[in-house]
Amino acid sequence: MKLALFDDYRLGVLRGDDHLVDVTGALPHWDNGYAANFWLRLCHDFDALRPRLEQAALDGQVVALSGVRLRAPVLNPSKILAAASNYGEHRAEMAARSAGASASWLQDFDVFLKAPSSIIGPGDTVYLPDVPGREIHHESELAFVIGRQGKNIPEERALEHVLGYTILIDVTVRGDGDRSRRKSYDSFTPIGPYLVTADEIGDPHNLRIELWVNDQKRQDVNSGDMLVRIPGMIAYASRVMTLYPGDVFTTGSPPGVGKIEDGDTMVTQIERIGRLTNPVQR
Ligand code: MN
Repeated sequence: MKLALFDDYRLGVLRGDDHLVDVTGALPHWDNGYAANFWLRLCHDFDALRPRLEQAALDGQVVALSGVRLRAPVLNPSKILAAASNYGEHRAEMAARSAGASASWLQDFDVFLKAPSSIIGPGDTVYLPDVPGREIHHESELAFVIGRQGKNIPEERALEHVLGYTILIDVTVRGDGDRSRRKSYDSFTPIGPYLVTADEIGDPHNLRIELWVNDQKRQDVNSGDMLVRIPGMIAYASRVMTLYPGDVFTTGSPPGVGKIEDGDTMVTQIERIGRLTNPVQR
């Protein structure tokens, strides 16, 4: 099932490539996104609600995607966890940029946090801050959303905690300084267009990830190339902090990161998920 949030945070289920069905009425709780955290309850209760949503997706009003404003298919996550240095060729390109000047820990796999306030949706604009002497880069990433709460999750049970998958662009100011600040400017986390439930994805380590800036392809990799796979990153992070329903976890950038500038348009596509487009402005 492909879930979408649209307009004033109504819930939709995709039908084909060009339509969705408004299933908001099938939710036990809904309050336009802010007051009731209906989305977090949906993530928590998805298995129980699924039959109602499936029925509503058959019966409900069909709406053309061209007539709605898609929102990021996540809402009020307690955190965005992000994997760092999780593709070998990306590690190598970052080591080459810093020419040995950067701390070695920057080259090692780890997890860090991005501010949830940096999230934007499909079609929304990434605004470039004024950071003289610094480049601002795209990182196209496979991300997932937690369904089942957990702490100290063992690798062999980790995928049971994943509700579904989406696309995330981890926009980044390059250079020294704390990652969480360099990656948390407002609008630095486009997510979308849909949350695709895990059963529809199959193996998350066999998905093609591509990113274009304007018409130039910059990134093209298979998610199977990641160094620490999703069960490993869930186990690692959940030894530190509880993963809550609705939390977003992004799996790290493939190689091919590069500069984005005023007037650019980024398009990211991940197999079986969809295509996310975001313009860039100063
Ligand atoms: Mn990243």
